[in-house]
Amino acid sequence: MIIFGTSSSTINPSKLDGGHCPFCKTENQMWVQGYRKYFHVFWIPFFPLWKKLYVVCSHCKGAFEKQEITSKNLISNFEEFEKNKVKIPWYHFTGIIIFLLLITSISVIPFLN
Ligand SMILES: [Zn+2]
Repeated sequence: MIIFGTSSSTINPSKLDGGHCPFCKTENQMWVQGYRKYFHVFWIPFFPLWKKLYVVCSHCKGAFEKQEITSKNLISNFEEFEKNKVKIPWYHFTGIIIFLLLITSISVIPFLN
């Protein structure tokens, strides 16, 4: 049985302004989609790991990495998203929060008696 490992969650996709798909060349249909990997124990997220961003075309459903994007304004929009919008979801720290609460209660309980 696997009790720990990594999993990932999706970060809200947002539409990018302008640009075109490097595959089907459709204009202005590009979205950015992020994934954040996290380490889990018993499926409880413990701490966040790396993030991964893709540009997704809503026309041909192709997913592209940054180095595959050819149009310049798409790259700058992508970089802005990368910097500002890929926040770590708070629940990725659930395990650490539980652990800290446990430690706190263990050290406080003796004083309550
Ligand atoms: Zn496309």
